[in-house]
Amino acid sequence: MVQKDSITWGTVEIPYDYSHSRRQTVGISVHPDLSVTVRAPHGTSLDTIRDFVRRRGAWISKTWRDFEQFLPKQPERRYIAGETHRYLGRQYRLKTETAEAESVKCLRGYLWVKTKGEITPERTKELLENWYRQHAKVVYQERLAVCVQRAHREGIPTPGLLIRKMASRWGSYSSAGRITLNLALIKVPKECIDYVIIHELCHHKVKHHGPKFWKLLHRLMPDFEEQRKKLNLYAE
Ligand SMILES: [Zn+2]
Repeated sequence: MVQKDSITWGTVEIPYDYSHSRRQTVGISVHPDLSVTVRAPHGTSLDTIRDFVRRRGAWISKTWRDFEQFLPKQPERRYIAGETHRYLGRQYRLKTETAEAESVKCLRGYLWVKTKGEITPERTKELLENWYRQHAKVVYQERLAVCVQRAHREGIPTPGLLIRKMASRWGSYSSAGRITLNLALIKVPKECIDYVIIHELCHHKVKHHGPKFWKLLHRLMPDFEEQRKKLNLYAE
């Protein structure tokens, strides 16, 4: 029989399910949905189980954080014609061409980069990244406006927005009330961008990823787990 309990470890509340079975030792797992399960030998008291979970508090909290930091790794892009690049969750084939004026257009399945003079991967990359940045500015502001409307009812104010390349996370929230979003987020679907924004907005009220945090996130985005899973697929 599976039962529910919870302990506090420092300021972190750790809810978990536990059950008894014919095993020899107590075992604990943290799942990608951040739930925690404990399996204990028959006859193990709840106090012993609580002690066990408390001793693993640091590890549980670290594992929660790890599950949460989606590494936006990408296969090496060479910025040559024919390879695919993503924009808002869709794949586009890169097309390069010399022209009188430099431009990037997203048209009929192509990301079409026009370069003055010689076409080099370096120049193509530069033009494409500028294009991503311009679009990120518009799209992120638009998504932020939508998300903030929802967050207002929880008393969360409109934050400042910063866009930059980040190596190991999709976004962050500073205590100064500013959200930083990874430029690479412009490659994932809008609903996943919303997830990252709402997640960061929730940090205005709850700093750590304890149950209070997930409850708040769930109130603002009932399908957040689905979006989080989808986002993980785009981490490549
Ligand atoms: Zn977070």
